[in-house]
Amino acid sequence: MDDVRKMKFEKDIVIIVNPNIIDNLKICVKKASPNEACGLLFGDIKEVQVIEGFQYHYIAQKFECFESDEKSPVSFLIENIKKLNEVWQNAAQKFNLRLISIFHSHPAGSSPSGVDHDNMEFLDNCGNRAFKNQIWTIMDAQNFNLNAYIYYNEEIMKIAVEINK
Ligand SMILES: [Zn+2]
Repeated sequence: MDDVRKMKFEKDIVIIVNPNIIDNLKICVKKASPNEACGLLFGDIKEVQVIEGFQYHYIAQKFECFESDEKSPVSFLIENIKKLNEVWQNAAQKFNLRLISIFHSHPAGSSPSGVDHDNMEFLDNCGNRAFKNQIWTIMDAQNFNLNAYIYYNEEIMKIAVEINK
């Protein structure tokens, strides 16, 4: 288990999620329980000028919950790169949205496991540019706390989750 306190924080990237999407994430998590839920968040990426320079806002606009027969979504994600690509292309063509985060839940806690770390590294190196520096969002199935992480320069960094109204 990674120690979140030691994890670096990437302040130049923020993921912004509206309460509606949070509700959809919760529904997805409850449906999959006691297994881990998983899905994809699609939206826009905007470059915003702040005092310190530029910030990248990943704005979630659409959530696709995946039903998984697997006991863990991790194997589901890896075995279904093709399906991931299809859903992602559909979002791009139909809604003009891009993949902004891979979502899954944990029975308790919302920090990346060792397996998550391996999978973040795997996707980063899988050759598909859509998965490069991918943001992973993890929801705690007990208190629905949502955390976000990015795999960057071969390490996991935490990023801020902002819930807008
Ligand atoms: Zn996990």
